[in-house]
Amino acid sequence: MTTQRARRRAPRGPYVLDTRELGRRPGSLRRVETTIIQPSDFGTELVRVPTGAAVELDLRLESVMEGVLVSGVVTVPLVGECGRCLDEVSDSASVEILELFYYPERAVETEDEDDTSVLVDDHVDLEPVVRDAVVLSLPLSPVCRPDCAGLCVDCGGRLDDLGPDHSHTQQDPRWAALSGLAEAPATTDNKEKD
Ligand SMILES: [Zn+2]
Ligand SMILES: [Zn+2]
Repeated sequence: MTTQRARRRAPRGPYVLDTRELGRRPGSLRRVETTIIQPSDFGTELVRVPTGAAVELDLRLESVMEGVLVSGVVTVPLVGECGRCLDEVSDSASVEILELFYYPERAVETEDEDDTSVLVDDHVDLEPVVRDAVVLSLPLSPVCRPDCAGLCVDCGGRLDDLGPDHSHTQQDPRWAALSGLAEAPATTDNKEKD
């Protein structure tokens, strides 16, 4: 005896697309070119797609035997922090996605339900698919520019702003006096040994 899956209501959100137009006719195709507003942050502490950002979808929805195949490119703006100098970094990334959303009755036959995307009320929810693709594409440690010199270890200033002549080699006179004192007894000891 098989349990009938309760008919779930269509998910909501900017990443949810309606596939009813495809009419479950294998081979029928729909192109989606649109800009959506990012509903929540994707990413890591260091770099992310911020909430409210404009995300471009350039996708094909294709009806196949098992469900709807979604493929194409998603372009997201990124903001983050330079891993060397902590300056704000903004960039964009284009990720390719390819995901088969199964019709619910087909999905039951597949082995691992958690890894399977399923149509809900003839809608696809691309949010988890795009989130995974974006997070995988993010740089582990973004930099503001490839040759960013980072921060001065002595004063914490940004070396690219401080310029090539910046240095702390000139010693504070008080420290110079102390190091002079430290050296003095050693010289005396040596003389006593002689
Ligand atoms: Zn930097
Ligand atoms: Zn410095």
